[in-house]
Amino acid sequence: MIIKSAKYLISSPDFQQCPKPDRPEYAFIGRSNVGKSSLINMLVDNQKLAKTSGTPGKTQLINHFEVESLPDKHVPGKTQTTPWYLVDLPGYGFAKVSQSQRKQWETMIENYLRKRENLVNIFVLIDSRHAPQKVDLDFINQLGAWELPFCIVFTKADKESQKEVSKNVKAFLDAMRKTWQFLPQSFVTSAIKKMGRDKILLFIDQCNTA
Ligand code: GDP
Repeated sequence: MIIKSAKYLISSPDFQQCPKPDRPEYAFIGRSNVGKSSLINMLVDNQKLAKTSGTPGKTQLINHFEVESLPDKHVPGKTQTTPWYLVDLPGYGFAKVSQSQRKQWETMIENYLRKRENLVNIFVLIDSRHAPQKVDLDFINQLGAWELPFCIVFTKADKESQKEVSKNVKAFLDAMRKTWQFLPQSFVTSAIKKMGRDKILLFIDQCNTA
């Protein structure tokens, strides 16, 4: 997939105020500081598109970006661009949020994920530097309970040795096997090295044209 353009559209406090659900939508979510903004910027090839929130936990909004892409094998001038939405969701796992902020986040995320009719896939970001974290596994198990489609994206793979990354990826997938019969598709990425970009974009392209 070739990204033709990507631009910020709107930030919405709840799913009802999101743009008209008239095109496929892909959401990105993970713990704060997991590398979500960096990954989104890497995918759309624009280092300034997604901004990291200055105040963790305060920006509880659903952020829509409008993306236009071309398939890898396009005929210049003939192939139509495919429009889709990329959504940057507020992260979980902030230590300093109040009980009421947490509840507000949960309600907004649950409503968005379960009611947004054009949502094709959720990319759940996991930091490849760490051993499996309960908060990530809980979130994923919740997605399972809601029967929502998702992929796992391991981030920051350049920060540790390949051996360490493989160990953490395996440990995470093994932890999932305790409750999951089939594992979802997973990607190992590095925003610095642009690693995993082609595979994620191919996945989106295949969903868009399915
Ligand atoms: P967010 O809070 O999840 O949006 O995370 P950011 O994208 O702002 O990243 C958090 C920190 O991790 C920043 O200092 C980034 O520069 C760093 N970071 C993110 N992705 C990568 C990566 O792939 N490799 C390395 N080495 N650092 C990364």
